[in-house]
Amino acid sequence: MPISALKGDLVTANHILFQQGVLDAFGHVSVRDPDRPDRFHMSRALAPGLVTVEDIVELDFDGAAVRPVRGSLYVERYIHCEIYRLRPDVQSIVHSHSPTVIPFGISQVELKPVYHRAYFLGQGVPVFEIRDVAGARNNMLVNDQTRGQALAQVLGKGNVSLLRGHGNVVVGPNIRTAVTRAIETEVNAKLQLQAVMLGGPINYLSAEEAETLGAELARTQPSDKRGADRVWDVLKQQAEAARRLLQGT
Ligand SMILES: [Zn+2]
Repeated sequence: MPISALKGDLVTANHILFQQGVLDAFGHVSVRDPDRPDRFHMSRALAPGLVTVEDIVELDFDGAAVRPVRGSLYVERYIHCEIYRLRPDVQSIVHSHSPTVIPFGISQVELKPVYHRAYFLGQGVPVFEIRDVAGARNNMLVNDQTRGQALAQVLGKGNVSLLRGHGNVVVGPNIRTAVTRAIETEVNAKLQLQAVMLGGPINYLSAEEAETLGAELARTQPSDKRGADRVWDVLKQQAEAARRLLQGT
């Protein structure tokens, strides 16, 4: 996909994730540049629901904007810098504070896949503890390179990491898959919470089932793209309709 089209998808990603309640006034989504893999694109610091293509900026892995920026940059852009640096396979990243996921980062209950669409959670997701890198007196934000590196290490080869008392980060091999996964992570958290409240042992997806689903999608749908496109198309329509309603056009 050429960068101009990718920027259009990035704007849509902001609107979809806002509309779905994954992003609120905070959080961000980025995409790696297809021609310059050592750079990525994201909005300047702005509520995701308000992002337009003029707000998209290009950044390097030190968190610096390639061109002068109108306004400021997201203080937590180092999440994106350090994951892209460590994971060449990752093409898109979502950092959100999606609410239902947060309890799994602060309790003893591990976030694990309870339904088939969330197979990418594997056998559970790691929790990033900011005190380990920033000490007891910290502001909870991944707002420098050291913290970004520590988070990227905790994520490892996985698709999702929780940030204790803060939110989560979701990665994907393309932007549509990353967006779909961020939504499915929130949905899985809701379902798992409901199952926990019902009581008794929970019948999670097994490692074999998660692996089989992942391998099947990788074989039949390169980068999980067909499934993600199906979700994308309908959620894009919904997000655009909501924006038109808000703008009175
Ligand atoms: Zn955050």
